[in-house]
Amino acid sequence: MTRRRLVELGLLAPVAFVAARLLGSSDAHALELTPACDDHPTDPNALGPFFKPRSPKRHALRGPGVSGLPLLVTGTVLSTSCKPVAGALLDVWQADGNGHYDNSGFRLRGHQFTDRQGRYRLETVLPGLYPGRTRHIHVRAKAPGRPVLTTQLFFPGEARNNADFLFDSQLLVKWRRSTTAARHAQFDFVLKL
Ligand code: FE
Repeated sequence: MTRRRLVELGLLAPVAFVAARLLGSSDAHALELTPACDDHPTDPNALGPFFKPRSPKRHALRGPGVSGLPLLVTGTVLSTSCKPVAGALLDVWQADGNGHYDNSGFRLRGHQFTDRQGRYRLETVLPGLYPGRTRHIHVRAKAPGRPVLTTQLFFPGEARNNADFLFDSQLLVKWRRSTTAARHAQFDFVLKL
C-alpha cells in the first residue's frame, strides 16, 4: 500500500465515521429507546379517595365528552433485573381536564395488560388540577402473581409539585417529542418480582 493511499484512508475514515453516526442517529428516531432501568423499584404512592375496582379493559380513555388536552403515555413495565414484564396489569384512574373524577361511572378509568415486550400505551387527557393536589395520574401496577403496586405519576415543571406533600420526583414522566397533536409522556415502571 502506498503512502498516499494510507493518507487517503486516514482522511476518509473520519468522514465515514461521521456519516455512520449521522445515519445511525436518524435510524435511532425510528426505534424505541432502550428502557433506562436501575434496580430501584418504582416508588409507591397514596391510593387516594377515588379508586374504583373493576374498571373497563381499554387503553384509550379519551373520547367524546371527556375534557382535557390529549395526552399519550407510553413505556415499559420492567422487573428490578431490567427484564420486560409481559402481561402486567396497569389500572389507571385520573381527573379530567377540569380536575373532576367520575365517581358514578368509569370515565377516565381503565385497565390494560402489557404486551410481550412489556410495553403499554395509554391514550388519555392531561389531568386537571383540583384543590390540594398537583397534576397527577393514579396507577395500580401488578406483575402476574405478584402484589399490587399503587402509585401516581407526576409531570415536570408543574408549579404545584413542590407544594403537594404526595409529590415524588422519582415518579415524574419524561416528555417525548410528539409527532401528533397529543402530548407524549414516557414512564417505565420497575416492579419487584
Ligand atoms: Fe387524585
